[in-house]
Amino acid sequence: MNTEPLYYQDPYLRAFTARVIGRRRHDGKETVALDRTAFYPTGGGQPHDTGTLNDVAVTDVFAEDGLVWHVLAGELTADTVTAALDWSRRFDHMQQHTGQHILSQAFIVERNAETVAFHLGATASTIDLNRTDLGPADLAAVEAAANRVLDEARPVTAAFVTQEELARLPLRKPPKITEAIRIVQVTGFDWSACGGTHVANSAQVGLIKIVGAERRGPELRISFLCGGRARADYARLQELMSGLAARFTCAQDEVPHAVERLARENQTTRKALEELEAQWVEATAAAWWATGQQLPNAASGPQRLVVQTADIPPERLKKLAQALRERPGTIALLAARGERPQLIFARGDDVALNMGELLRAAAVAGGGRGGGRPEWAQGGTPTNEGLAAALTAATAIVQRSTGV
Ligand SMILES: [Zn+2]
Repeated sequence: MNTEPLYYQDPYLRAFTARVIGRRRHDGKETVALDRTAFYPTGGGQPHDTGTLNDVAVTDVFAEDGLVWHVLAGELTADTVTAALDWSRRFDHMQQHTGQHILSQAFIVERNAETVAFHLGATASTIDLNRTDLGPADLAAVEAAANRVLDEARPVTAAFVTQEELARLPLRKPPKITEAIRIVQVTGFDWSACGGTHVANSAQVGLIKIVGAERRGPELRISFLCGGRARADYARLQELMSGLAARFTCAQDEVPHAVERLARENQTTRKALEELEAQWVEATAAAWWATGQQLPNAASGPQRLVVQTADIPPERLKKLAQALRERPGTIALLAARGERPQLIFARGDDVALNMGELLRAAAVAGGGRGGGRPEWAQGGTPTNEGLAAALTAATAIVQRSTGV
């Protein structure tokens, strides 16, 4: 015998009694077929219902060869069951699904765009349209037309039809099946072959809101929310918006202006900061250079060794090293203390010493690593103490090489 689909007779049925007519294991779980059920099995883009059979949770529902199987979270020994649906989940699916019918037909009526796919998701639902050249104004027009159908509170009915009856109906698209064709009608607006569950009146869809449009090859994927989901989304956006308005101490409508002003101020501040930093770098480089050690004249001319450690970000240390190496005959051995202790060794183009080799040797002395080019090298040590050891080692090598 087949399972009697109570969800077709009355999509509003949320509790019923039934007899167990089949048992099996599905993914290791107790799974039963009933002689009648209001649990909708996954199909036609609509997810399955959940609920309980004798207080045992139903976690999945699927149809197979005329039977509807209920996958259970625990064992069920009884042969008769009292069943209850998770009604908020089911009604949500009915709202999304009926809203989809209306939205799909509105896209045809308003913009001649056909729906080629539908997915009822856990958060948003989507339809894929066969044309991609629709902009925000088109979507707004279609959404408004769809919501007018809700305002008109049109009865939604479902019935199995014969081939002759089918031929007289203005279907959106021909059904994929030829037997037991069920037509869902939004009175006077849309007729489509569908095996899902729907609300009884278009007004119960509550609200249709398009929340996204994304081009996917030759199709346009429209994301939308209906009913309770749309209301929850409105509440979320309202909370977000009032939070922003409070943060900017302004009216909600003034938030974009406030953000614009903040961005402008930020740009001005950043520019001023950059100018100040450039001045600071130049002044600090000059001060560091002044404290440097004069080395015996090399063949290329007088040389100056600058060794400094500071609590500054590595990017600023880089700028100082750059400013120092622009001064003739300068060798700068710099370190920045911090969470990631950094070393930068740099020298002027008129100095022959190899910074890459020097830093590699010095970093090892500090327990770290690094290297680089002859005129510029970077590295690090695991600790701030390591920096001091590295600088001491490097200083000794430089002084040896110049005969100090
Ligand atoms: Zn449907």
